[in-house]
Amino acid sequence: MFVRMKRSATAEQVDEVRRRAADAGLAVYDEQTEGGLILALLGPKGFDERVSGAFAELAGVDSVARPSRPYRLSSREFREVPTVVKVRDAVIGGGSLTLMAGPCSIESREQLFDVAAGVAAAGATLLRGGAFKPRTSPYAFQGLGLEGLRLLAEARERTGLPIITEVMEPAQVDMVAEFADVLQIGTRNMQNFSLLNAVGRTRMPVMLKRGLSGTVEEWLLAAEYILAAGNRNVILCERGIRTFETAARNTLDLNAVPILRRLTHLPVIVDPSHATGKRWMVAPMSYAGVAAGADGIMVEVHPKPEEAWSDGEQSLTVPMFTRLARELRSIHALVAPLHAAPDEASGR
Ligand code: PEP
Ligand code: MN
Repeated sequence: MFVRMKRSATAEQVDEVRRRAADAGLAVYDEQTEGGLILALLGPKGFDERVSGAFAELAGVDSVARPSRPYRLSSREFREVPTVVKVRDAVIGGGSLTLMAGPCSIESREQLFDVAAGVAAAGATLLRGGAFKPRTSPYAFQGLGLEGLRLLAEARERTGLPIITEVMEPAQVDMVAEFADVLQIGTRNMQNFSLLNAVGRTRMPVMLKRGLSGTVEEWLLAAEYILAAGNRNVILCERGIRTFETAARNTLDLNAVPILRRLTHLPVIVDPSHATGKRWMVAPMSYAGVAAGADGIMVEVHPKPEEAWSDGEQSLTVPMFTRLARELRSIHALVAPLHAAPDEASGR
């Protein structure tokens, strides 16, 4: 349940709510709003009228609401204002445009540094690169592992760009967290709940990619695991889903962008590289993602895509990314005011 405290509520009254919540076996999450403090009291039993009635009677409580969605902390019902995730000097969400770019896999010092310098000069805000790769085939390149993480950290030193990289299992979280600025959860792990709990405990920014066949609701419930573990720095990434269509690698579900903006306060990134699997589709679908209201994009860039060890077909060259970044800034400047001031009449 969501307990809204009166603006005039005292610290003792808030403490009393917390105490009663602990007695009832409920976890408490705070959200300070302009209208006062909201406490989400969450437990496995779900909403109980008798329990909520008792909270409504407590001094300092303004009202008690029943959540209308299965996800709670990720919902706009709990937090109305957009979450802005801070990553070193960069911010993700809240009207900014985030451009994450870099190679699918880190292959060598030369390859990574080449791309890193190129995308930094083009105005990227984060450098991406896979060190632990979730490959469909066990015989495909699995990533450089720790050596890749070290190279990424070096690239950050050289360019000043914060870095995002995937973590594939709970046992890797501490190691990856030592190097990364943002932990990426890949599509194949969207519902790896022990991994979600583990990255939740780090309190570090986490980008959660949508599962290959994940519904929006399942995706938000996956985000909820990270939030429920005490980590508010969650970013969502739409990277295409499996449909009957085989003309592209996946189907970019752009519907998810406005849907998520309505349902959740979390920032939304679009990954047109994995969504399409084709280099020539990356720019148009990036334009579409930003126009639809995404907070940014993640794209794969390689100095020589035809020689890439993974995902070469969908990787842009540095000059292609440079041009794309420029175009996206123009599109964003045009659409940002539209998304910031939704038209009441259209119900957005
Ligand atoms: C990636 O971004 O490196 C990746 C493997 O993407 P996904 O999990 O979306 O397939
Ligand atoms: Mn890739």
